[in-house]
Amino acid sequence: MSARILVVDDIEANRRLLKARLEAQYYTVLLAENGMQALGMAKEEQPDIILLDVMMPGMDGYEVCKRLKADNQTAHIPVVMVTALNDTEDRIRGLDAGAEDFLTKPFEDFALMSRIGALTRYNSVAAELRQRQASGLKDELNENLLQRIRDKPARVFVVDDNPRSSARIADMLRSGGHNAVTLIEAGGLSNLAEQGVDILLLSMLSDRFDALKLCAHFKSNEATRSLSILLLCDPEDQQRAGKGLELGASDVIFSPVDRQELLARVRTQARRARYIDMLRERVDRGLELSIIDQLTGLYNRRFMMNQLESFMRRAVMGGAPVSVMMADIDHFKSVNDTYGHDAGDEVLVEVARRLKSNVRALDVVCRPGGEEFLVIMPETPGDLACAAAERIRQAVAAQPFSVNKGEREISITVSAGVGTILGPDDTVSDLIKRADVALYQAKSSGRNRVENQAA
Ligand SMILES: [Mg+2]
Repeated sequence: MSARILVVDDIEANRRLLKARLEAQYYTVLLAENGMQALGMAKEEQPDIILLDVMMPGMDGYEVCKRLKADNQTAHIPVVMVTALNDTEDRIRGLDAGAEDFLTKPFEDFALMSRIGALTRYNSVAAELRQRQASGLKDELNENLLQRIRDKPARVFVVDDNPRSSARIADMLRSGGHNAVTLIEAGGLSNLAEQGVDILLLSMLSDRFDALKLCAHFKSNEATRSLSILLLCDPEDQQRAGKGLELGASDVIFSPVDRQELLARVRTQARRARYIDMLRERVDRGLELSIIDQLTGLYNRRFMMNQLESFMRRAVMGGAPVSVMMADIDHFKSVNDTYGHDAGDEVLVEVARRLKSNVRALDVVCRPGGEEFLVIMPETPGDLACAAAERIRQAVAAQPFSVNKGEREISITVSAGVGTILGPDDTVSDLIKRADVALYQAKSSGRNRVENQAA
C-alpha cells in the first residue's frame, strides 16, 4: 500500500536519509524543516502519515503534534514521534500530545516500515469513514461520538503459552484500561468473533503453536478476518515478523514488551476496529435509508422503479406476467384537515400495515409518495391481480382506523387501479399509466372500489 509521508526534521542530513529510505520502499515523501512549515504542509498537502522529530529549535515536536491534533483539518493524520532517547518520559509526552506512535533513533528499516505499514492500514479505514461522513448523514456522526468511539477500551485476547509473560502482558493492558483475556484463562480459542474480541495478540515465541499458521488461519476465516492481529516477536526474528505482516497481521511488537509501546499499538488497532464497526453499521443504514420510506417502512419510489424495471425485463423476455396495483386513500386531505397531520400519519402507517399483511411474500409493497401506494405483483396475470386488489380494498374498509393515539376511530377507504403487462413492447411507464388510468376511473365512479386496465 503506497502512502504520502511528511518527514519533519530540523537536520538536513536526517531528512535526506529518511527520504532515501522511504522512497526505496516506493513511498512519496514530503519534507519540512521546522514546526511552522510542518503545520502548513500538513494542512495543504494532507499527507497520510507524519514522521515528526521531537527535538527541534523553536517549536518542538510535542507542540507541533498538539497543534496538528487541535486542528480539524489535520487531526486525523497519524503522527509518529521520532525521539532520540529511549526514554519513557518522552514517549508518554508524545502520546499525551496525541501522537499515534513513536520511533526511537536510530531505527532500522524494519521498525520504520512496520510502523508505517500499520498506520497506513489504519488510515485507509479511517479515510473511508471520513469520506462517507463528508458525503452525507453528517449530523449523526459528530466529532463527540467519534471521540468516544476512538477511546473506547479494546478487548484483547492474548495468545501466549508462557504463563508469566502472558499474565504480564494482560496486566499491562488492564492497567491501560483495556479488557484482556489470556488463552490460559480462556482455555481455548473458539468463538473469538462472538466474544467481541477486537485484537488478537499472538506470540511468536510460543513453542506449542505456530503463530504464523494461526495468523494465516484467522485471516482466511470469514468470521475472524476483520480481527486485528498484533504479533509479539523476538527482535532477532524480523524475517518471520515480516512474513506475519504479509499474511495480514496488523502490527508487530518486540519482546521484551514495553508498556507504552504495547498500549500505543493497541490503541491504534482498537481505533481501527471501531472505525470498521462504524463503517459496517453505516453501510447497512445507508442502504436502508436509500430504499425505505421512513414513516411506513415500505419501499420508496426509487426502489419501486428499480424493481419494476427488473420485473418488466424478465416479463418481456418471456417470463411470467407482472401486474401492479396502484391505491390511493380516499379523501385523505380531509383526514389531515379534520384530525391533524399526526392522525394522517397514523392512517398512512395502518394502511401500509394492512397492505403488507394482505399480499404474498413475493409482492413488493411501495409508497411512491403522499397517500399513494403501489404493489408490484410478479408472476401475476391481470385477473388474479384484480382479485388481490379487491381483497386489499376490503381489508382497509372493513375495520375502522384508530387515530389521535387511540382517542378516535375513523373509517378509511381506498380506491385502486390495476394494470398488467400486455406485450413485449411494454415499458414500465405503460404499466404505471394503465394502473393510473384505472385508478382515475375508480375515483370518478364513486371511490372505495377497484378498476382495471389489465386487459
Ligand atoms: Mg532534531
